Amino acid sequence: MKILVLNSGSSSIKYQLLDMNNEKLIAKGVVDKIGFKDSTVGYENYKGIKFKLNKVITNHQDGIQVILDYITDTENGVIENIDEIVGVGHRVAQGAKYFTDSVLIDDDVKEKIKKTCEIAPLHNPPQYKGILAIEDVLPGVPNVASFDTVFHKDIPEHISTYGLPYEWLEKYNIRKYGFHGLSYSYVSRRVGEIFNTDWKQLKLITCHLGNGASVAAVKNGETIDTTMGFTPLQGLIMGTRCGDIDPAIIPYIMKRENYNVDEMTDILNKKSGILGVTGISSDFRDIEKAADAGNERCQMALKMFIYKVKFYIGAYNAVLNGIDALVFTGGIGENSSRLRHAICKDLEDLGIIIDLEKNDFKGEERIISPLNNKVKVLVIPTNEELVIAREVKRIIS
Ligand code: ADP
Repeated sequence: MKILVLNSGSSSIKYQLLDMNNEKLIAKGVVDKIGFKDSTVGYENYKGIKFKLNKVITNHQDGIQVILDYITDTENGVIENIDEIVGVGHRVAQGAKYFTDSVLIDDDVKEKIKKTCEIAPLHNPPQYKGILAIEDVLPGVPNVASFDTVFHKDIPEHISTYGLPYEWLEKYNIRKYGFHGLSYSYVSRRVGEIFNTDWKQLKLITCHLGNGASVAAVKNGETIDTTMGFTPLQGLIMGTRCGDIDPAIIPYIMKRENYNVDEMTDILNKKSGILGVTGISSDFRDIEKAADAGNERCQMALKMFIYKVKFYIGAYNAVLNGIDALVFTGGIGENSSRLRHAICKDLEDLGIIIDLEKNDFKGEERIISPLNNKVKVLVIPTNEELVIAREVKRIIS
């Protein structure tokens, strides 16, 4: 049972082809810089073939066509015919009020996803584009949408509601939705599997720390709170997003600098956060290097990030009245032993302790707390694509 999973960005498409009879990944890659002159196509298969080629890809349809060409290629492909693909899963960030579960895509679903583009302008439009593109290239194959917001659908009302005029909630659904739900769904279940226990009995704090970063408090299989909000802009300071700020700053600066709404939105999403503070990069590898070389703003930016993650771990510990496990995932959470160490330092009164030797690695699944410590601290490489592929299998079966 071959299922293709697509994660479409504004100029990229990440893809994975999985055999869902045994949940094995058989090919994956990224089509990058779509619409630019220097676009590339990456491809890797289970036989160990791996390459990245420069190829002009003008739009998402082209990108998807190339993916299909590569996976069916007679020499390096993994399937003989595209007919073997029984379903396609699409990551969609914002399901808003419309979706509380993954869905088979039809015209009505497409119309609703289109409507959500307005409140998730950075994420949903390319994902919507990806759906239209594959319908063109693979007609007749069922498409399923899986939403990052669904995992957080049970956030209690008093936590999801903002202190704003209530009619905005009624009229515009202005509320906390939360994101990274596919990742949280994967790592939360995985904690249950690792400790051979029902994950729905656990109290967890999950930290997805990547370019976009968030923390969630999960109890009995449901999100109690998470740091992202109506959009993925709220919460932690991120690579290029500001995270929590005093909202009064926005009109103040708009007036001072004569910015219009689009310009301000662009700055808050793409030119703020770690990039905004350091003026150097949004990539934590660059920031760590520059901090070590003595760059003071980079040193401060790391401290800002660490503080905010610690802050929410503390807050969610109180919200959950103690936890069973703390999980790190995402590019930074999986790979930066230094940041994991800094975040967990001086949290022993909350029962959170890590073993520095166990923590000294990157990119693997490991328990990094001391053997008998009550609160387990884990690093779990996320696998959002597998979560989506499982949803496709469930829905088309
Ligand atoms: P996205 O949100 O785009 O999926 P990722 O989860 O891939 O992002 O995370 C990307 C981030 O992970 C980047 O800031 C990158 O610097 C960081 N990262 C990756 N490897 C390391 C590492 N070894 N040390 C520190 N940060 C890392």
